[in-house]
Amino acid sequence: MLRPISQLKGVGAKTEKILHDMGIFTYYDMVTFYPKAYDCFKGLVGLSQLRMGEDNYLQVKITTQPKLQYYGKMSSLSFYVQDQQGLRARVTYFRQPYLVKTMLVGRVLVLKARPYIKKGEVHFSNPVVVEADEINQLRTRPLVARYVLKKGISEKKIRYYLEQILGQIDDLSPTADYLSQEIREEYGLLSWHQSLKLVHFPQKQEDMERARRRLVFDEFFFFQAGFPKGDHRVGNDFPLKKAHLAQDFINALPFDLTYDQRRTINQIKQDLQGPYRMTRLVQGDVGSGKTAVAFVAGLMVVDSGYQVALMAPTEVLAQQHYLEAQKKLAPLGIRCALLLGSSSAKEKKDLYQAIGQGEIDFIIGTHSLIQEKVTYPKLGLVITDEQHRFGVMQRERLSQKGNHQGRAHILVMSATPIPRTLALILYQDMDISVIKTMPAQRLPVQSFLRTSAARPRIYRFMEEEIKKGAGAYIICPAIEDNEELDLTGVITYTQDLQKAYPHLRMAYLHGGQDNKDQVMADFAEGHLDILVSTTVVEVGVNVPRASVMVIENAERFGLAQLHQLRGRVGRGNRQSYCIFLSDAKSETIREKLDYVASHTSGFDIAEYDLKMRGPGDAFGVKQHGLPMLQLADFYQDLPILDLVQKVSQDLRPSPALDQRLEIYYRGKKQVFSI
Ligand code: ADP
Ligand code: MG
Repeated sequence: MLRPISQLKGVGAKTEKILHDMGIFTYYDMVTFYPKAYDCFKGLVGLSQLRMGEDNYLQVKITTQPKLQYYGKMSSLSFYVQDQQGLRARVTYFRQPYLVKTMLVGRVLVLKARPYIKKGEVHFSNPVVVEADEINQLRTRPLVARYVLKKGISEKKIRYYLEQILGQIDDLSPTADYLSQEIREEYGLLSWHQSLKLVHFPQKQEDMERARRRLVFDEFFFFQAGFPKGDHRVGNDFPLKKAHLAQDFINALPFDLTYDQRRTINQIKQDLQGPYRMTRLVQGDVGSGKTAVAFVAGLMVVDSGYQVALMAPTEVLAQQHYLEAQKKLAPLGIRCALLLGSSSAKEKKDLYQAIGQGEIDFIIGTHSLIQEKVTYPKLGLVITDEQHRFGVMQRERLSQKGNHQGRAHILVMSATPIPRTLALILYQDMDISVIKTMPAQRLPVQSFLRTSAARPRIYRFMEEEIKKGAGAYIICPAIEDNEELDLTGVITYTQDLQKAYPHLRMAYLHGGQDNKDQVMADFAEGHLDILVSTTVVEVGVNVPRASVMVIENAERFGLAQLHQLRGRVGRGNRQSYCIFLSDAKSETIREKLDYVASHTSGFDIAEYDLKMRGPGDAFGVKQHGLPMLQLADFYQDLPILDLVQKVSQDLRPSPALDQRLEIYYRGKKQVFSI
């Protein structure tokens, strides 16, 4: 299956190049080059038997002299045809004036055409003329696969290559299929080889459907094989002993926890008391209050005598968590520390030592937490915030970090709403808590989509809000200006805006800056009115006084990203506003932006995004380097995914499975990185 296509009969250098352009390098690529559709031959029909809305094969005779007309560059050639019963229809060919030479009165044609009715007449436009030998073929094989091809390759050639490969596959070889005959029979799955044959050369509708079912099964199977399996059943090496601190913390909060926050905390508590290691995902939309839950979990673990590590995807977010911890946890006697990639060598050395000697209880940081040099003598819990930004493996690495006493509990906080299907795969090893209820008094953010023509009005509005005490974010997609892309970066933007509004206090923020924490603190405490920022504030940042956000060049951001960005406002009791600015002309882009502007639920937006982009791109699946799905559909094929989960539980390793995995991971379609 991994042989190069150049070994096929009829593939010369030229064809090989075209096939490569189509992404087909090996036999495996060829057999998984699935048809885009099927033509169904139901026999030749007369005009009285036409089926509307689908292709019909019909035999007719030309009865009138074709009339050729030009409208500017456009031409139309039309004439009447008659079937054997004498019924008439009108045929028109657009842009094919040369046909006037061959469409002669009296000629008998077999047409493949989709009818439509106009002024009471049956019409066909640009019907395909079917040759006699093709009709004979259709008679013996009534269903024909259709492919999306490049110039220089015909369907006939593709079939010829497929026949060669499929003719060589041996169903009886012991490595033919990783699913045993019994399993296949029990769940109504065809063999892999048979499915390949039938998907390309089906005899009847049912063949196609059954073949697809098995192929979708395999796609899901190998897709999920890329994710770590649940080791739920690892024992609990860090059982909960006390939870007084957590209670003190909750009592000191200036608000009451929401119902879902309390429920989630209870679930975490039960996990920590239970016999197995906790691996829990807390999913809650932006602003639902996940940090408080994470702190409570951390306190329970520290109270029981262990260390906690909290990993955030950006320095800005890590710094924010650290400040919050200093404010709320340090008074309870918790020793907190911040570890960043940008910390100085000396700072790092001192910190490593303090952590190593168990003098730190709560360690907050970025990826630097999983660097080799840190060892945690009694790490009991690893929390990753906004986990979709991390590879799946990273959280495991941290949980096993330099720790010989056992495997730390894992708690993952994510605002990325994941449809159940994807969650089944991405988090198959985790329990899930969902925080649906938003803190009371929260007003939904009002969003608008505008063009840059509205900028003066927007600035005036922003100024009004600032006068009332609001903080405002302006998001730009770049640090420096980019003339080619016509982007203004945060630095120039701030300078220009400052000139126009000398009385407003503003600063810019981007990831490469050293004083990020100072700028953030100034903004949070109200020493700045406007923060002109790149997407460094995209995840997690919490400044409740900020209630206006303007996103420049909104078309440059993904939908999930726009929703995350918007989540930076609407965190206090004030009515918040988010204005998406875009001059993009494309209708699809405006439609997408409009969708985000008119929907507030992250879940709706994610579902929409998934539908628009397909699963390969949404939710950072691509980021994880996972293969794309070709046939499977995360919506309609949910039952097959359930079946995959069920079957894989009893599946034992076998040479057949090894072989398929090798084919799968060595084929060009994969980019396996984790
Ligand atoms: P996210 O879920 O996006 O991480 P945060 O944990 O940052 O949200 O919380 C957002 C804001 O809501 C914070 O200012 C936090 O103090 C506040 N908050 C959290 N829980 C509640 C609650 N139950 N009632 C009122 N405000 C809350
Ligand atoms: Mg958060």
